Amino acid sequence: MESICLNALGKRSGEVAVLDVKSGRLSAHIRQGLSRPTYLPGSTAKLVTAYAGLSSGAINIRTSFGCRNVFKINGCSYTCTKPGGHGRLDISHAISSSCNIWFYQAARKIGQKQIKRAWASFGIHLDPGTYPVERLAIGEAGIQITPVQMAKIARQIAINKHRQGTAYPILCEAMRMAVTHGTAVPLSNAPVAIAGKTGSSSHYRDANLRHGWFIGFAPYDKPQIAIAVLCLEGNSYRSAVPVTRKILEGLYADR
Ligand SMILES: [Zn+2]
Repeated sequence: MESICLNALGKRSGEVAVLDVKSGRLSAHIRQGLSRPTYLPGSTAKLVTAYAGLSSGAINIRTSFGCRNVFKINGCSYTCTKPGGHGRLDISHAISSSCNIWFYQAARKIGQKQIKRAWASFGIHLDPGTYPVERLAIGEAGIQITPVQMAKIARQIAINKHRQGTAYPILCEAMRMAVTHGTAVPLSNAPVAIAGKTGSSSHYRDANLRHGWFIGFAPYDKPQIAIAVLCLEGNSYRSAVPVTRKILEGLYADR
């Protein structure tokens, strides 16, 4: 499996972690060209924020917020990815289209304490510092994380997929929707049904560069693998998503 992952990463600098869902053991872990152990999670963190909101009751599947592309936090303007904005969204569409502005508004309802608690339930310490809660909610502050830790988060979601009455089934459906209709759509015709979440996080040094993330699990119906892909200096759609696709082709195409 490591040779498949290495081949998929190609000449990119990045890291891939694949976990066996059942045992939790690492099936493959490769790392090349990275100078740091940890990186900002970017929008993959929205899964944890959504978990915080749903499990605390601060939001539910019918909660909707609007996105008109621009949003002010402490006097600074932040834009969303879609020109003109995403319009009104529920949580599933907010996750699948990765709307920052939905999550800024959700973060204000959820609050820092619940977001910190949600990270702790995934085994990760969030250090909120003096960052605005809105920035914590989209993984642009307060957390530095490894791909192995992100793969563990994907695994925790996958193994709880059928726990009705919890946040997990809602997260799983939204992650599947990200693949069928959302930010990870190049994976929609992969040789296995995968569910996941993209992320493009700020570079630690260069404001013009992004790091691409994808975390997810497959097959969707009976999860066997949980995966996290981090590609340096590329957005998710053009880096981590195609790398994930190549790994799935290597693992599942001949079955
Ligand atoms: Zn938006």
